[in-house]
Amino acid sequence: MRLLLLSDIHANLEAMEACLAAAPAHDLVVNLGDVVGYNASPNEVCERVRAMGGPIVRGNHDRACTGLTDLSEFNLVAAASARWTQVELATEHMDWLRSLPQGPIWVDELPGIEFAHGSPRDEDEYLLNPFTANINLHIPGHADVIMFGHTHLQGGFVYQEGRTRPLAPNYESMEGAVESTLTLFPGERYLINPGSVGQPRDGDWRAAFALYEKKGNAPAQVTFYRVPYGVKQTQDRIIAASLPERLALRLATGR
Ligand code: ZN
Repeated sequence: MRLLLLSDIHANLEAMEACLAAAPAHDLVVNLGDVVGYNASPNEVCERVRAMGGPIVRGNHDRACTGLTDLSEFNLVAAASARWTQVELATEHMDWLRSLPQGPIWVDELPGIEFAHGSPRDEDEYLLNPFTANINLHIPGHADVIMFGHTHLQGGFVYQEGRTRPLAPNYESMEGAVESTLTLFPGERYLINPGSVGQPRDGDWRAAFALYEKKGNAPAQVTFYRVPYGVKQTQDRIIAASLPERLALRLATGR
């Protein structure tokens, strides 16, 4: 079973297409939410995501951009992009985004894994440190492997030998397309973030995604990927849409 993990695409068409072009063969795509918000191609991205199928959990921006939650929790830039997206979104995509389920969700083909936007206990929680991750790795009734997004930071956390520590991919280069593989050992617990396709915040501007693979009785593996994309085109779209310039600038630095 090979599972393509996408998260936080945020209406970035160029980044999404680069990820799909670089993605190895897979059986299923699971999307961890925030399909829209921030960037300027919400309709094109919704169309492509809907066409690829597979389970999707909703993100906080999917709610905000469709009026399911108000914008009072958002900063000015995020709120401006959410208002713009509300106006731009085609009705059919708006309806589809509104219908997305709240995480965590489970997928029939992968009974040992759970999928959330923020955390298993709260769809809006940011899993940013081992303390919060450890709490979420020990909630009864949840899977030992939990895929999450929301932070836009690729990597995650592992609980092994009695403690929880951060995990990060180990890349050879800050240029070009790169990958880094992690083995998931039985008896340990994992929170895995494939990173953000459309607005990375870990200081690496390249689009992020991951592939989960389970073959027979061998331990499962997660491979993290970073791929360059046409960021200038994405920035041009943001400026042409009169969205805040900050949204274009941050893409170049991955912050
Ligand atoms: Zn997001």
